[in-house]
Amino acid sequence: MNKPAFSVCIYCGSKHGNNDMFTQTAHQAGQWIGRHGGQLVYGGGRNGLMGELAQATLAAGGRVVGIIPRALVQREWAHEGCTELHVVDTMHERKRMMAEMADAFLALPGGIGTFEEFFEVWTWRQLGYHDKPVGLLNAAGYYDGLLTFVSNVTRQGFMNDWQNELIRVGDEVQTLLQSLVQDAGLAPPVRSQDL
Ligand code: AMP
Repeated sequence: MNKPAFSVCIYCGSKHGNNDMFTQTAHQAGQWIGRHGGQLVYGGGRNGLMGELAQATLAAGGRVVGIIPRALVQREWAHEGCTELHVVDTMHERKRMMAEMADAFLALPGGIGTFEEFFEVWTWRQLGYHDKPVGLLNAAGYYDGLLTFVSNVTRQGFMNDWQNELIRVGDEVQTLLQSLVQDAGLAPPVRSQDL
């Protein structure tokens, strides 16, 4: 495969969650990346939404870069089918590599690992450590509570509107991916199935 059209780092749950829609969303995200000649950068696991996302990307012809700390290889069942699987020494190295290899970041539904990674790239953006687009997929209202909390943080004076505006929130994964890739200045070709 030629150089990918874009590279998106996706954070998501190492579990499936209780709503089938989460799995469908991970599947659609992978399909969209593959169909548009893109590359997925993710945590390298084969469980939960992470595994679904990687599998769908590969099946649609995309590249998948998995980056996993040695200590998690067993626990998260490293996905041996990745186009590139990097086994690194520490979590910090994982996150640094993921951030460097991505043109944009997106969080799908997940647990505290997903939150931590999402908040890290959001805070790095507010500090100017990078200027890459950051998205949050509010699938089936999963992040409603978080968004309400963040509004409250703003009302309480610990955040300003410009910090909120650094993230793009959406409820439809293909549209959100398209916007993030465009924000990164890397508009993928429009595919007939998107019309
Ligand atoms: P979760 O959303 O909790 O299912 O975790 C999703 C991914 O986040 C998994 O690959 C975890 O290894 C990863 N993760 C868990 N804790 C952390 C952390 N402190 N920093 C970065 N990633 C983490």
